[in-house]
Amino acid sequence: MEKFIPLSIPNFEGNEKKYVDDALEQGWVSTGGEYINKLEKDLAGFLHADNVAACQSGTSAIHMALVDIGVEPNDIVLVSPLTFIAAVNPIRYQFAEPVFIDCDDSLCIDPIKLKKFCQEECNYVDGRLLHKGHIVKAVIVVHVFGNMADMESLIDIAETYNLKVVEDATEALGTYYTRGRYEGKFAGTIGHYGAYSFNGNKIITTGGGGAITANSFKVVDHVRYLSTQAKDDPCFYVHNEVGFNYRMTNLQAALGVAQVEKLPEFIARKQSNYDIYKKEFSGFEFASLVTFRVGIESNKWFYSLEINREKITASMSDIISKLQKKGIQTRAIWGLINEQKPYLECESYMIEKAVYYAERILNIPCSTQITEDEILYVSSEIKRLLEELANE
Ligand SMILES: *Cc1c(COP(=O)(O)O)cnc(C)c1O
Repeated sequence: MEKFIPLSIPNFEGNEKKYVDDALEQGWVSTGGEYINKLEKDLAGFLHADNVAACQSGTSAIHMALVDIGVEPNDIVLVSPLTFIAAVNPIRYQFAEPVFIDCDDSLCIDPIKLKKFCQEECNYVDGRLLHKGHIVKAVIVVHVFGNMADMESLIDIAETYNLKVVEDATEALGTYYTRGRYEGKFAGTIGHYGAYSFNGNKIITTGGGGAITANSFKVVDHVRYLSTQAKDDPCFYVHNEVGFNYRMTNLQAALGVAQVEKLPEFIARKQSNYDIYKKEFSGFEFASLVTFRVGIESNKWFYSLEINREKITASMSDIISKLQKKGIQTRAIWGLINEQKPYLECESYMIEKAVYYAERILNIPCSTQITEDEILYVSSEIKRLLEELANE
């Protein structure tokens, strides 16, 4: 068989089949059942959070956070353009508008530019931040690739300007601070809301699924209520709000309970595989492995190479297709959201680093099952290719 090393595939080495079979046998396949409750408890335990609600996707978690905040038509929500579009679309579900703020070298939103925007482009009146007459309600902070944004600075800014902070921790389940004001705090448990995703490519998966936590027990309960059609009574159909069909199913949760059991091991594998890549690319002239913030323990979910554009002018698609021929699946970072059709008319603020990184980042194979031999093969083939391209 020809060699093929995928970018990122799920890992079902644990109790997945056993628990899914069990859920099927019990007949609890839909939005009720013991596995949902267990998954919520297990996640809360892992994150040291007091309440977690399991839902249908990371996107729905972010959407419900915005609903709970009270984001309304024409409100403004701040977000970095260097992200997966699922972090931005829920703003539009509420008929609100994003304003795009640049990222910094962590690939996450830049607190310095965020602060400058609030100071220089907005007015703070009666506890409300106004930009061109519209209320800036929230900032969505994406912890890109398992890194952690600078939460100390971001929370300070949010407190100064009365902004709600939604952490998009969909890529950073298990990342936490090891020092500073938030020592021991996990990504997603620092801001007002934290969203997680269990899509197929994330560090754990339920096929499709997500979870949400918040800084108050009652808020999480409210979001759980919203996710089940805002049903007020278990027997009679009484609804006092517009709800959603956003609840996770018990079948998905069965998969999730097994995956959470393996989560510490998955993180350890991601971390040690990262170290092998790091050794392989240390001192390499044409690309370097992107590092994670100092003062955090990262889940090291995704590995990024930064291509040296002084030396290599080949397009990303050229690099990716040449590696594909060697059986190595890689991908470019996302297209910037402010350049996507639905968002072309939106305001962008000081976007520089996002453009810089969009041209340079190549994501390389990072599945938990990848072997050391495969990592060595991937590294040597990438180095060989980049050396060739540099000489062209
Ligand atoms: C995966 C992802 C999401 C969305 O999660 P889904 O579960 O696929 O809806 C949101 N934001 C980022 C940054 C992601 O990587």
